[in-house]
Amino acid sequence: MSRRVLVTGGSIAGAASAFWLARVGFAVTVLESAPAFRPGGQNIDVRATGREALRRMGLEGAVRARNTGEVGTRFVDGDGTVVSEFGVDTAEGSEGPTAELEILRGALAQVVMDACEDSVAWRYGDRVTAVTQRDGGGVEVSYETGDDETYDLLVVAEGVGSRTRELVFGGEAQERTLGMYSAYGTIPRTPGDDDFWNVFHAPGSRQAALRPDDEGTIRANLNFLADSPVLDGLDDEQTRAALRERFADAGWQVPRILDGFDAADDLYVDWLRQVRVPTWHRGSVVLTGDAAWCVTPIGGGGASLAIAGAYVLAAYLSAADGTPAGDEAAFTAYDAWMRPLVEDAQDLPRGVPRLAAPKTALGVGALRLATKVAASKPVKTVAQKVTGGPQSTRQLPDLVEA
Ligand SMILES: Cc1cc2nc3c(=O)[nH]c(=O)nc-3n(C[C@H](O)[C@H](O)[C@H](O)COP(=O)(O)OP(=O)(O)OC[C@H]3O[C@@H](n4cnc5c(N)ncnc54)[C@H](O)[C@@H]3O)c2cc1C
Repeated sequence: MSRRVLVTGGSIAGAASAFWLARVGFAVTVLESAPAFRPGGQNIDVRATGREALRRMGLEGAVRARNTGEVGTRFVDGDGTVVSEFGVDTAEGSEGPTAELEILRGALAQVVMDACEDSVAWRYGDRVTAVTQRDGGGVEVSYETGDDETYDLLVVAEGVGSRTRELVFGGEAQERTLGMYSAYGTIPRTPGDDDFWNVFHAPGSRQAALRPDDEGTIRANLNFLADSPVLDGLDDEQTRAALRERFADAGWQVPRILDGFDAADDLYVDWLRQVRVPTWHRGSVVLTGDAAWCVTPIGGGGASLAIAGAYVLAAYLSAADGTPAGDEAAFTAYDAWMRPLVEDAQDLPRGVPRLAAPKTALGVGALRLATKVAASKPVKTVAQKVTGGPQSTRQLPDLVEA
C-alpha cells in the first residue's frame, strides 16, 4: 500500500511536490484553500538549480512554450526615453533581469499541475484547522468543513502567510519585512507597448513597471517603500484608492496603470517579507516553498526554489525506508541541502531594496546613471544578487522513482 501524503497549497511548490511525491510512490492529495485553481500572477523566471529540477521533470520545453516573449529590460525616464537596456540572458546563472525562461506564475503552476500523475487528488475550498502528530508516525488533520483524516506525511506549501505552519510550528517562523509593497495586475495592451520589461523610478521611493505576456495583455506593477504595512486589511477598492493617492503624481504611464488596476480582476498586493524558520520539519510535517523560506521577488528565485525544493524533498524521501526515523532523516537531509540556497537568496546586499527605490529626484537620477554603468562591479554584484536565481555547485540528490 502506498503511503499517503497531504500537500496543502496548490500553487508552484504544492504542484511540484505532488508531481515528485507521486513519482516516488506516494498516494498524494493536494488541498488548496481557494475554491478553484488560482491562475493569476505576473512574470517570474526559472533559473539555475530550479531550471535543472525543471529539466528533470521533463518540463523545460513546456515552460519555454509559455514564454512571456519578453525581449529584455529597459529603464526609462518620465517621458519614456530609454535610459539603459539589458537583453535576455541566455547563460545559466545569468545576471540580467530578464531570464531565458520567463513565464507567468499561473502558467507555471498550471504546467506543473497538468504534468502530475492522474493519481494525484486535488481538493479545493478547504483548509486544515488542526494537526495532531500520532504516536508512531503520521498526522491526523481536521478540516474547516468538519472532516478528519489521517496521513503518513503532511507537506505544507501554503505560501508566505501559511496558517498550517503556524498551527504546527507556533511562533517559530519569523518574518523579516523588507519595507516594500508590490502591487500587480493585468491591464490591456496598447499599440504603443513593446516587449521589454519597462521599469520607471519616481521620487518618493516609488517604482512602476510594464511587462509583456503571452496572453495579449500587459502585466503592470507598482512598488513603493513604506514604514509599516499600510495596505494590510484594506479591501480591493480601498487598496486601489490608496495606490491612486500614493502614485497620483508619479508620472510616466502610471495613470494608465492605475486606471488598469481599477478594472483588473487579479489585483495582487504583497507586503514583502522573508520567512525564516529554524527547522522546516516537525514529526511528520514538513514545510516547503514560500511557507518555509519566502525570499520575496527582491531576493529572486522564489519559483526556482519551490521547484528545486520539491525535487530535493522527494529525492530524500524516495531513498528513505518509510519509518518515522527514515522520514526524519530525509527531512533533515532536505533541510541541509536547501538551506544554503535559501540563505544565499535571503542575504540581500546592503541597501536593497531601498537602493532601488530612491526618495529624492537626485537619487532617482543617480540610480538611472547606475543602470547605465551596470557593467561596473558594484552594480553587477547587486544585479546578480537580485536576479541570478538559486545556484548550487552541488549535484541535486538522486531520486528513486517508484
Ligand atoms: C495568486 C498569486 C499570485 C502571485 N503573483 C506573483 C507575482 O506576480 N510575482 C511573484 O514574484 N510572485 C507571485 N506570487 C508568489 C509566487 O507564486 C511564490 O513566491 C513562489 O512561486 C513560491 O510558490 P509557493 O507555491 O510556495 O507559494 P504561493 O504561490 O504563494 O502558493 C501558495 C498556495 O497555497 C494556497 N494556500 C494558502 N493558505 C492555504 C491553506 N491554509 N490551505 C491550503 N492552501 C492554502 C494559496 O491559495 C496558494 O495557492 C503569487 C502567488 C499567488 C498565490
